[in-house]
Amino acid sequence: MNDRHEVLGQPRKNAYRDTWATGAIEQPIGKEIQVSGWAHRRRDHGGLVFIDLRDRSGIIQIVFHPDVAAAAHEAAGTLRAEDVISVKGKLIKRDEAVVNLAIPTGHLELQASEIEILARSETPPFQVDEDGHVDEALRLKHRYLDLRRGTITPNLKLRHRVTQTIRRVLDEHDFLEVETPNLTRPTPEGARDYLVPSRVKPGGWYALPQSPQLYKQLLMVGGLERYFQIARCFRDEDLRADRQPEFTQLDLEMSFVEEEDVIAITEAVLKEVLADAGIFVETPFQRMCYDEAMGRFGKDAPDLRYGLEIQNLDEVFAASEFKVFNSVLTGGGTVRAINAGKRELSRADLDELTEFVKGHGAGGLVWAFVEEDGGWRSPIAKFLSAEEIAAATAAMGAEVGDVILAVADAKKNTAAGALGALRERLARQFDLIPFGEHRLVWIVKFPMLEFDDDAQAWTPLHHPFTAPDGDLNDPANLGSRAYDIVMDGWEIGGGSIRINTVEVQEKILDIIGIDRAEAEERFGFLLEALKYGAPPHGGLAIGLDRLVTLLAGAESIRDVIAFPKSATGADPLTGAPAGVDEQQIRDLHIVSTAPRTDD
Ligand code: ASP
Repeated sequence: MNDRHEVLGQPRKNAYRDTWATGAIEQPIGKEIQVSGWAHRRRDHGGLVFIDLRDRSGIIQIVFHPDVAAAAHEAAGTLRAEDVISVKGKLIKRDEAVVNLAIPTGHLELQASEIEILARSETPPFQVDEDGHVDEALRLKHRYLDLRRGTITPNLKLRHRVTQTIRRVLDEHDFLEVETPNLTRPTPEGARDYLVPSRVKPGGWYALPQSPQLYKQLLMVGGLERYFQIARCFRDEDLRADRQPEFTQLDLEMSFVEEEDVIAITEAVLKEVLADAGIFVETPFQRMCYDEAMGRFGKDAPDLRYGLEIQNLDEVFAASEFKVFNSVLTGGGTVRAINAGKRELSRADLDELTEFVKGHGAGGLVWAFVEEDGGWRSPIAKFLSAEEIAAATAAMGAEVGDVILAVADAKKNTAAGALGALRERLARQFDLIPFGEHRLVWIVKFPMLEFDDDAQAWTPLHHPFTAPDGDLNDPANLGSRAYDIVMDGWEIGGGSIRINTVEVQEKILDIIGIDRAEAEERFGFLLEALKYGAPPHGGLAIGLDRLVTLLAGAESIRDVIAFPKSATGADPLTGAPAGVDEQQIRDLHIVSTAPRTDD
């Protein structure tokens, strides 16, 4: 439905309404109509009762006149906020002086002849008719009331549009929408699994899918050629502020394709989805190599809407006698910096930024203000030669008054990561993000593996089914055929061309230290399938919640999900996770070591 304008299309006269509240604007003045909804607000004025009736489409004002309908007028006088009503009446024009331009129906009102009170409401725990701030925990506990306010529903409407567009565009490109199971074996996406104990197979466990990765590859082996699914995924991770334990992906996979094919179809989908949100972009999107993204922006999901690029000062300080730089650089580390521009930064501000980069793993932050004479006002100025200062200033493209913020670290990725985070913080702090601008970029040429110091092992940067690119005997320099799509500094999706032979798959598993027995145990079914003629295939997944959050300009991912979990992973509405009956636990053949909870 088009909420604002369309008359309710219904096959028979419905007992409650014949138009949406805002659909009334399509009706001729003088027409008798019936509307239903909630009593949004009541005003008693000069012997008349005014009710703002609200339904999903919006609001229409109803006037109850004692001389027109005495019984309805009396009943209306008893209405309280959120009572559910159905009203019949005649559409009339409002006087010029009381036209309300803020709502589509603001030039008319319904003069009531009859009212039926369908359900009464107790006083809600927060006001539904006001936009004011309400604590999020309270909103989530009473999400059904929160949904009646104006903030979440527009996001859900946008989400609906987006999923409809996805289905249409992919259907036009011969994709089949296929559902894959939720009760399955663990999918190795690198997170912890949610497990479901089996009642009928004592000691057996299902895992909820971290993604449909293995099933979609099996669909390709099965000859489905082009698959997509709007799939729920489950990952038991320590929740960061904006993560949900269950989330939705647009998941797709294609056979007989290379990177360019998956990228092209994704762009076709995204272009139309963005247009649904009034964002018009040109395709093809920009591309950037992983190394370049890390070097210039300190992050493999760079926000390209503003500058503040990271510069490498290794050469400038290569021969420096300043101990900190010297030891870092001779040890194979790096010195990198951002020119933050002309900023007023007090000592306290600089201390705060220092703490910030320390929170991102850096040892500290070096700051320097470029002075009139070309020198630096900086705690390290006295340790540097005039030539080094001049060369660093030039390398940073810095002018008088600019502040340079630098990090030196033995690990390149630590320095890059800390400055990448600092860059984003500075952009927010100094309001550098242009309003209404959006930048999409593909990140390509990822390394296949990274070395995990804790585990002393190679781990895949994506997942172990990603096709490698390069010499399998040189893990440190092995590339991958993965690609990520990034919007405004958020990785909104990613995927890869997959391994389609069992030999290469086994070789990769060897490199990452998954032995045959373990591989057999965890995904032997995939290895087996690869033996029976798997086509070259690849795909990607896009995080739908994050994408819609960006498109809606919402503050939190929770604002685009009807019933989200709170930041701790709990559901304030139902109280999940909650204790269960002892008997249920016994039936599942498990013994709980947790202290008994009664909630
Ligand atoms: N399964 C991957 C993920 O969930 C995406 C993909 O490779 O298609 O991140």
